[in-house]
Amino acid sequence: MPRSPRVLVLAPHPDDEVLAAGGAIQEHLRKKHAVKVVLVTLGDGQRRGVLLPRRHFLRLGERRYRESLAALELLGLRRDRIIALGYPDRGLAQLWRSDGSVCPSRFTKACAVPYEFARTPRAPYTKAALLSELQEIFSHERPDLIYLPHPRDRHPDHHALSLFAEAALHESALRPQRRYYLIHYAGWPRPAGHHPHRALTPPPSLSTQSWLSLELRPDQRARKCEAIACYRSQLKYFEENLFRFARPNEIFACAATLGVVL
Ligand SMILES: [Zn+2]
Repeated sequence: MPRSPRVLVLAPHPDDEVLAAGGAIQEHLRKKHAVKVVLVTLGDGQRRGVLLPRRHFLRLGERRYRESLAALELLGLRRDRIIALGYPDRGLAQLWRSDGSVCPSRFTKACAVPYEFARTPRAPYTKAALLSELQEIFSHERPDLIYLPHPRDRHPDHHALSLFAEAALHESALRPQRRYYLIHYAGWPRPAGHHPHRALTPPPSLSTQSWLSLELRPDQRARKCEAIACYRSQLKYFEENLFRFARPNEIFACAATLGVVL
């Protein structure tokens, strides 16, 4: 019997996986595909409050991890299908540009992964360590399809994760299909705010790329909304930003693919 297709969702922060692909995850699970989610940071930074004690940010990271577990469980994904890496929030771009030295978190002050539940506790905050974790995950999971941030996403962590993932894939012999998702892009999506009946369309400046639109069934839309509501720590500040992704569809830029579209 052929094995089930394997799907990997890479999220820079806990919530990106559901905002970008909460419907796609449900659809893959419905088709009995094997889905795993990788949370690369735990969102343990905050623009406001950099002067707060480190334990505040560690607690925030743990809280955001639990929020992702709850949201993904609602979508039908088991806890053992979620991999937390615990690299520094708002620090991935610095890691990518670094010369190999350790880049401590501005928030938790950690120089290495501080979470015992992470895939590799105490992995150093270096470019090589993150690249090698991603390579190991790709070699182990052998994904047929990867969801990852769009390289033109304006958030430095999203952009950097896109570069990390492509570099790690380049090193491996794997050539999975890629679906690139946008979360942060100037003036997008339009109209801003919560519009549950307006379909997402690509930003005009990126419309020459090939985009795939996944229509969500009413039950999948409702479940995605419930999952978004799990991210309470973020809803407090960014409710409108989160619910602008509660739409009738999800869109992904695709590289030209050969073979079956999963
Ligand atoms: Zn994010």
